[in-house]
Amino acid sequence: MQPANNPLPHLDDWDDFVKSRYQEGRAESEYRDHSTDTHPCVTEFYRLNHRFQTVDFVLAKEKEYGSLSRSPQGVWSAMEYLNTLIDDSDPDTDVPQLEHLLQTSEAIRKDGCPRWFVLAGLVHDLGKLLCLYGEPQWAVVGDTFPVGCAWAGDIVFRPFFEANPDSGVPEYQTRLGIYSENCGLDQVHLAWGHDEYIYRVMRPYLPAEALYMLRYHSFYPAHQHGAYDYLMNGDDRKMFEWVRKFSKYDLYSKGGERPDVPALRPYYEDLIAEFLPAELAW
Ligand code: FE
Ligand code: FE
Repeated sequence: MQPANNPLPHLDDWDDFVKSRYQEGRAESEYRDHSTDTHPCVTEFYRLNHRFQTVDFVLAKEKEYGSLSRSPQGVWSAMEYLNTLIDDSDPDTDVPQLEHLLQTSEAIRKDGCPRWFVLAGLVHDLGKLLCLYGEPQWAVVGDTFPVGCAWAGDIVFRPFFEANPDSGVPEYQTRLGIYSENCGLDQVHLAWGHDEYIYRVMRPYLPAEALYMLRYHSFYPAHQHGAYDYLMNGDDRKMFEWVRKFSKYDLYSKGGERPDVPALRPYYEDLIAEFLPAELAW
């Protein structure tokens, strides 16, 4: 990994930053100001993300990964592969990726949610495999936002967009940009990252509610702040209830009890086999 492209010591540092922003009970006004309490690595991460996520970049990545032409792999093996991302120099503060997935899915399961919802929890961050394919951190994680139209005021570290080349394209700087009023989010290109990638991998197999959770779980400007409502249609608004429901498990299950991976594995192998083939196209 090139350090200049990857300022976060751990990919998790972005997730931890988001969690601290949306601490339960914290007022919106308190997390508006990121200048004082944000780690410089996180600030640098957003500077790169906002500088480089352009319309051209997103379209190129959608094309590159859209064909799902990487080696077929099963879900459990993908989870173990993703776990190799962890840098074990800091074992006390970082939850391995596989444990975050299991903590999320176990929290959903304990609440008696449908099985497809549990499975969505299990796979939701598998798109972070992009990092292992050599993608820079700013093209894997980070809050997502539409490209090709004006950046909403609710996007974290918004001033960094001044350095984005799309800021000089007048067509991209109007409220609707290249989209039309209430066109539906399916027509909208979001910043490229682990959400869109796992959505594409799981698209043939999971119900629409689960696919919304996967595709928009990092779209914090919309599901936490209500931004971009004018790009949504009625279906999107209904489905976003599920995205918000999912987000609580993603954010707040972390740091709980460490899952007993070998004990849980048989349950999850069954669940995976119920919905997904033994190997998936990535
Ligand atoms: Fe995620
Ligand atoms: Fe997550």
